[in-house]
Amino acid sequence: MASVCSGCECNYFEFIQKFYKNNEAAIAYLRDHGVLPLEVICPLCKTPCYYRAQRHDWYCGVTRKIHHRKKRCHYVVSDYKGSFLSGAKMEPYKIICFVNHWLNKRGHYKTVLQCLGLSRKTGAAWQKSFAEVTEHWLDNQEPIGGPGVVVDIDETLFGKMKHEKGKSQSQIWVFGGIERDSKNYFISPLEEPLTENLMSLIQKYILPGTVIVSNRWNAYSSISDHDYVHQVINHSGDFVDKENAKAHTQSVELLFHDVKEWTLKPGSRPHFYKQYLAQLLFQQQHTHSNINHYFFREAARMYPPDFEAEEPSSVSVAEESSDNESQESDVSDEDEGSPSTSE
Ligand SMILES: [Zn+2]
Ligand SMILES: [Zn+2]
Repeated sequence: MASVCSGCECNYFEFIQKFYKNNEAAIAYLRDHGVLPLEVICPLCKTPCYYRAQRHDWYCGVTRKIHHRKKRCHYVVSDYKGSFLSGAKMEPYKIICFVNHWLNKRGHYKTVLQCLGLSRKTGAAWQKSFAEVTEHWLDNQEPIGGPGVVVDIDETLFGKMKHEKGKSQSQIWVFGGIERDSKNYFISPLEEPLTENLMSLIQKYILPGTVIVSNRWNAYSSISDHDYVHQVINHSGDFVDKENAKAHTQSVELLFHDVKEWTLKPGSRPHFYKQYLAQLLFQQQHTHSNINHYFFREAARMYPPDFEAEEPSSVSVAEESSDNESQESDVSDEDEGSPSTSE
């Protein structure tokens, strides 16, 4: 079986040149990146289905014997089933060109909508889906550290104060860690209650045995209760490990360097901060040439095409009223409500 793309480069304009008004190329690209299945095996016949391009579906069509009568298997499943494109009404080239625009933020938004023939409502809905992909990426960063590895951690408050109500509604706590040597890092929003969520983020993103270096914030005090070595930088105390303090400061400055320039525009709903952070970090951690590749790989991870989960119950095996119990609809039918099944 063919495997998914392990890396490709295509800058903003090359991407448009390649895919604009070219659904065939767009579908191939989505397949190459695992967003759409490369192969579908009929769950009834265990043989590969064939792809019907006009219908955007996979069809079995195998003839087999049921009760001494030859019957054609009519198993069929939408190409989009369970995928990032599940339920999409838009042509595939439009979706990926719109992603390309969204990731690169070039061109006037209104012009892009007009060129792709999209309404504002459709544009907004798809941008929400795109943001979910980058949020998924943010939530699933690779853990760092390991036995003996030094990781500097820090927290910071981003955003502008909203003065009207005297409340810090437009601000968000951001927490991160960076390996002192390799500079591998993670950054995550830190939601209330801070102390509790902090420890779960540490355990999610920092491997056991790591030497964690932090400031004296109270919320960090329980780190040593877990499987870590905890060093606290005490800038004002009698005993100051100057070298360690200096290295720690340099590390955390580097850590938040990318998000320092962050300006908040999303209004006052805290929900959007994470989206902004995710999009910003995603853009900053990828180049203009490989960003589409990583986006679609993430979309495939988030929505793995789940054709195998298709229950035989939605398939008409034979028209005749067979009393074949084994083919009677199986119990679980969770996918019934899925809008993508009959695309
Ligand atoms: Zn690729
Ligand atoms: Zn079949």
